[in-house]
Amino acid sequence: MVCVYCGGGTKVTNSRLQKRNNRVWRRRECLVCQAVFTTHEAVELESALSVDKSGQNQPFLPDLLLKELMLALSHRKDVYTASREVLGTIVHQLLALPQKPLYKPTDVSKVTSEVLKRFDKQAYLRYVAEHRSLQK
Ligand SMILES: [Zn+2]
Repeated sequence: MVCVYCGGGTKVTNSRLQKRNNRVWRRRECLVCQAVFTTHEAVELESALSVDKSGQNQPFLPDLLLKELMLALSHRKDVYTASREVLGTIVHQLLALPQKPLYKPTDVSKVTSEVLKRFDKQAYLRYVAEHRSLQK
């Protein structure tokens, strides 16, 4: 990876596997301008999960689900952090389902509502109401 500031070559000065979210954290240093920055190596969810939408195989878009979660959790002060954490839990549970890597949209909404139900009742009710109105 090249330096984000000057485009020069970099070296890894520290590296750690983060088991909790299955990422590799790396501290890099630029060989030209000596800037220090951090990178994360993580699975590309779009390639690991896909959704069957009426016969069409489409990539799972975590940003789209994050947007729905932020809407459902918008009453909370920690809306962004909470939404990111809930998204992580949902993705973890989706990856553990036997039907991987291809899911139906109902698998995603079922797992999402189950996770929200345990995490925040108000968010759960808002999510379910939103999905009912979308399905009509
Ligand atoms: Zn640099």
